[in-house]
Amino acid sequence: MSGTARPASGRAGMKKELPEHFRAYRHVWVFVEVEHGAVHPVSLELLGEGRKLADKLGAELAGVVLGGEERGLRDAVTAAWEHGADLVYLGTDPVLDQYRNEPYTRAMTQLVNTYKPEILLLGATVLGRDLAGAIATTLLTGLTADCTELAIDDERSLAATRPTFGGSLLCTIHTLNFRPQMATVRPRVMAMPRPEPGRVGRLVPFRPELREEDIVTKVLRYLPDRDSDKAQLAYADVVVAGGMGLRSAENLQLVRNLAAVLRGEWGGSRPLVQKGWMTADRQIGQTGKTIRPRLYIAAGISGAIQHRVGVEGADLILAINTDPKAPIFDFAHLGVVADAVELLPALTEAFGRRLA
Ligand code: FAD
Repeated sequence: MSGTARPASGRAGMKKELPEHFRAYRHVWVFVEVEHGAVHPVSLELLGEGRKLADKLGAELAGVVLGGEERGLRDAVTAAWEHGADLVYLGTDPVLDQYRNEPYTRAMTQLVNTYKPEILLLGATVLGRDLAGAIATTLLTGLTADCTELAIDDERSLAATRPTFGGSLLCTIHTLNFRPQMATVRPRVMAMPRPEPGRVGRLVPFRPELREEDIVTKVLRYLPDRDSDKAQLAYADVVVAGGMGLRSAENLQLVRNLAAVLRGEWGGSRPLVQKGWMTADRQIGQTGKTIRPRLYIAAGISGAIQHRVGVEGADLILAINTDPKAPIFDFAHLGVVADAVELLPALTEAFGRRLA
């Protein structure tokens, strides 16, 4: 189902009222998230999506890279070019060495006010969500969060689609009266573009006006996340997940065992979090993680729409369910009508023997 937040009749009238200075806003930008030298993959996914939008607009695609000094950011600039950026704005200042909302917001708003992008995309990561909201409120423009689809409509407007009303509807939101049009997208929602090794673009260095004395937040120490058990679902190649069909928290161990043998990650449907059988960082679906593994095994999961949207990007979906009419069989590539509590140990043993 899909709906629209735009009044059916109001669009043409509103367009006439667009301020003249909107014409100065051109091109599509992607904020390239770099933390401790590493580019977050969602930024590369967004460059792939941004490329399509820019081509539709006949505009350029720019990556925005911010950090403390140029040397540590070269890989990010190269990655942006190789994933489709025509140019990269490289904003450097010692104040930007580690992410803090205030200086990053200032640098981004200065960049936007100087070069005026039509569209600005950020990853819906912890950092991206923090930064996007601050930029949008500072610039007094619209931001559509957690989009599942981005397109350009016939009137050059960004059509940002996202679930609404608890996921039962999709709505398409247009930012008609403000610029830039901003959107965030969660990791793995968009496909990773194929990089073009050696592809280079232009580099536009930018020196934001920042002074450490003006920034109230100070970084005292960086503590890397050492929680080795933290779920890395979004980028796992193999994911095994369980649902209410497993019947008990203890049976979730059968999912973990198979995931371990396949050297993959494990997760589950939302009711398992609600029952306290697993933590929320392992929930897969619309209000959990979006995954795009090469193999997804769903055991005792019905395949409700809110679960489906998080897994349908998987290359191969194998569903195990006792009910041949379960909705998961509508989109699984392979289906087994069986008791997951019996089949999971058998699969673990069989794969264990083959992969040993
Ligand atoms: P059930 O719907 O109870 O299905 C259990 C399945 O197991 C059935 O198909 C049954 O035939 C099968 N089964 C039973 N016994 C066995 C057995 N022994 N072996 C094999 N199969 C068996 N859900 C998510 O997963 N992720 C989300 O992010 C998410 N977000 C939501 C957001 C909102 C706003 C709302 C309203 C709902 C959301 N949900 C989400 C919940 C979603 O609508 C479903 O309720 C949920 O996915 C169902 O989980 P389930 O398939 O594990 O359980």
